Amino acid sequence: MFDITTRDIKYLQGVGPQRAAMLNKELGIYSLYDLLYYFPYKYVDRSRLYYIHEIDGNMPYIQLKGEILSFETMGEGRNRRLVAHFSDGTGVVDLVWFQGIKYLVGRYKVHEEYIVFGKPTVFNGRVNIAHPEVEAAGELTLSSMGLQPYYNTTEKMKRGGLNSHAMEKLMKNAFALFQSPMVESLSEKVVKEHHLMSLDEALHAIHFPQNPDQLRRAQYRLKFEELFYIQLNILRYAKERHQKYRGLRFEKVGDVFNTFYSQNLPFQLTGAQKRVIKEIRKDMGSGRQMNRLLQGDVGSGKTLVALMSMLIALDNGYQACMMAPTEILAAQHYDTISRLLAGMDVRVELLMGSVKGKKREEILKGLLTGDVQILIGTHAVLEDTVGFASLGMAVIDEQHRFGVAQRAKLWSKNACPPHVLVMTATPIPRTLAMTLYGDLDVSVIDELPPGRKPIQTIHQFDNRRPSLYASIRGQIAEGRQVYVVYPLIKESEKIDIKNLEDGYVHLCEEFPDCRVSKVHGQMKPAEKDEEMQRFVSGETQIMVATTVIEVGVNVPNASVMVIENAERFGLSQLHQLRGRVGRGADQSYCILVTSYKLSEETRKRIEIMVQTNDGFEIAEADLKLRGPGDLEGTQQSGVAFDLKIANLARDGQMLQYVREVAGRIIEEDPTETLPENAVLWQHLQLLRKTNVNWAAIS
Ligand code: ADP
Ligand code: MG
Repeated sequence: MFDITTRDIKYLQGVGPQRAAMLNKELGIYSLYDLLYYFPYKYVDRSRLYYIHEIDGNMPYIQLKGEILSFETMGEGRNRRLVAHFSDGTGVVDLVWFQGIKYLVGRYKVHEEYIVFGKPTVFNGRVNIAHPEVEAAGELTLSSMGLQPYYNTTEKMKRGGLNSHAMEKLMKNAFALFQSPMVESLSEKVVKEHHLMSLDEALHAIHFPQNPDQLRRAQYRLKFEELFYIQLNILRYAKERHQKYRGLRFEKVGDVFNTFYSQNLPFQLTGAQKRVIKEIRKDMGSGRQMNRLLQGDVGSGKTLVALMSMLIALDNGYQACMMAPTEILAAQHYDTISRLLAGMDVRVELLMGSVKGKKREEILKGLLTGDVQILIGTHAVLEDTVGFASLGMAVIDEQHRFGVAQRAKLWSKNACPPHVLVMTATPIPRTLAMTLYGDLDVSVIDELPPGRKPIQTIHQFDNRRPSLYASIRGQIAEGRQVYVVYPLIKESEKIDIKNLEDGYVHLCEEFPDCRVSKVHGQMKPAEKDEEMQRFVSGETQIMVATTVIEVGVNVPNASVMVIENAERFGLSQLHQLRGRVGRGADQSYCILVTSYKLSEETRKRIEIMVQTNDGFEIAEADLKLRGPGDLEGTQQSGVAFDLKIANLARDGQMLQYVREVAGRIIEEDPTETLPENAVLWQHLQLLRKTNVNWAAIS
């Protein structure tokens, strides 16, 4: 038999060069295999006929059987339409077409029996079906119809005659080519053990299911296959990496760590911090290079974990560095860490673009001699001029602003690549982390330091400003500080800045006794820093800003976060912004200001924010509302996720399950030579060759 993965789609009956080009370009379908793995997005039950008198205004796609009583053309210009009055003896519906009128009049005849299929709407007491499908009743019998597949096609394809129906025909033509069952893509053992449908049966059933139960089993089998190979790929890659990259072995915890722990640590570590530090210690002592992702909600105390991990490197005779995405953040880390290490004999330096001249030279020299033990900085740390005597450990804060290439650059700073700890407050749902970062180990700080009062989140419509200002005034009177954030969307940056400027002027008038800071992306970095600093030091009480303050800034005295036009922010972003308050012991508030008219999705987003402070819950909700492709962090990491059938938001359990299955296979067959698994390794090879997404993952 021919190989479906290489069989060009253009040779399929009904395709040809023109349509092939369209399938290539619009859907990325090149081979017969690609076509068969292009699955319907929905199915419609055509196994039942409805009567016209049953129709109400709220029905899905249905089918009717009856005859056309008469035709009528109505309207002018763009409104010109053909109406066919259609009856089944229990009532009349209007079938309406706006296009192809001439052709349709000739095609359908009055008083012949047809099956009409479409979505009914009721308007002024009359039932309409716009652009229905009409087929001769004799050609179809109910029993053979089953569920009808619907395929997504683009506007371009539709104009070229490649609509869902045409795709359905192509699928039929493709299946007609097969004389023998399709070659199985999973091993016999896996199929048997997990009670899966055969590939042949599943592919037929996913396109042309006889009944809902058969469809479910086909979907299960194909999801299993998809997730299984992704996991097999990642786990195998992780294994190779572990073997390849030997790491520095940090065997001991010594004086620096212990002195800090017993004398300098200002508070008790939380249970979660202790657990994570243990995980990190174990990693760094294992002899393999650590690549760990540390997730912890805003305010969960990641900095301290980072510092203590760096101290372990110092105890083993190595240097450590920590990078932050902005100068403000780097400077803040430098201050925090210098203060925490006060009285200890550890040299910490700060390196960023604005550190120049003699000071810079001094730092660079100190790094080469090993005198500088901890370096904190921005991207500047990655520059080629920055060399280390012995870099053993690197921390990257707020990971999604650092590209993969930059991470790789870090590795080259030492002969044996340093251990890497990536920290993020963007909680990546477990399912996604497992798929994206199969080769990173994940630690989670799932506990906030004690004594924090949960932030209260309030939704307020923008016509209720007086009460909003009253609460702000109350907080300021108690000595607290307030953020007011405006959205910034690239396309309309000018308008947004105007919003912010207007808001600034307005707030200055409304609060004449207060000093107000202003920060936005179009200011010079130095100016921005200065304004920021005025707020940090408490000189100003109100900070008007765009999302430039989103990441990491720590002003414990700020207790109110007002987010204007909250409807324009995504869930993760709202959560990040909210995390700027609630850092002290006082009750803090987040006020989401929106207009009165909200879409259903926006309303849900705001509701979730009001209901929960849990970043993971929010990330899961975000994943469900927006889909993984959109999730913050995924996009920046450059990994395109287009799964054909599985859904990371819904199929988390199955993902976990197949990960274990794949892990066991790798363990049992480390040399990949067991005959029973031959199919699996071959198929994985094939997928690596043909699947673009996978190249991005590994
Ligand atoms: P994030 O995880 O957002 O980076 P930080 O590391 O900035 O959080 O910590 C937030 C605040 O919590 C800091 O002021 C820090 O000093 C404080 N903190 C961290 N760990 C503890 C702890 N175990 N007990 C009390 N306060 C803590
Ligand atoms: Mg932080």
